[in-house]
Amino acid sequence: MLDADFFRRWLIACAALVDRDAARLTELDSAIGDADHGSNLQRGFTAVAAALEKEPPPTPGAVLTLAGRLLISTVGGASGPLYGTLLRRTGKTLGDAAEVTPARLAEALRAGVTAVAELGGARPGDKTMLDALEPAVEALGSADAPFAAAREAAEQGALATVPMLARKGRASYLGERSIGHEDPGAASSALIVGALAEVAA
Ligand code: ADP
Ligand code: MG
Ligand code: MG
Repeated sequence: MLDADFFRRWLIACAALVDRDAARLTELDSAIGDADHGSNLQRGFTAVAAALEKEPPPTPGAVLTLAGRLLISTVGGASGPLYGTLLRRTGKTLGDAAEVTPARLAEALRAGVTAVAELGGARPGDKTMLDALEPAVEALGSADAPFAAAREAAEQGALATVPMLARKGRASYLGERSIGHEDPGAASSALIVGALAEVAA
């Protein structure tokens, strides 16, 4: 069973991985965006980690909704509302349970990813974070070692964005010139899913 502390550790691990890879995320965004994805997420997850270290909420749902709210209010770019919606919808779906099963988390994350698709209007293949998130939640629902499988699927999904033509977000302004670069949001989604596998291990 996964309790509030598990979710708190997940988000703190996200903050550490985003810190570690901020320069790489910003570099990816400098190729097909405005070179701020690493610093955007650093600002957001630093605020999340600080809040969770100060006063950890009592349930998984409350941890996720607090983190989502903070991402929305602190991240300047498109990724703030999108990741904020992912965590808030996932948290709301978990309700006020004190502990959740991995299967229940998979179900809630599915709802969160659906909310991201609704908010941003993107579909898999559009070269966005969804290209990492969709296969990750799919793997989380089915496989034997769900968290490791989700990390693997997210990493593969992020790499698969390289040959894609961007159809959403700033990268879409580049048209054909967006081809040949990994999507920064798909890369950060792989980190976020990777952090989940790290704390579950
Ligand atoms: P901004 O583009 O506003 O500077 P960021 O650089 O922080 O914001 O985030 C860019 C990432 O957000 C993209 O790489 C992409 O993965 C994701 N993104 C942008 N627009 C959308 C959308 N409509 N749907 C899903 N993801 C999106
Ligand atoms: Mg950007
Ligand atoms: Mg920006």
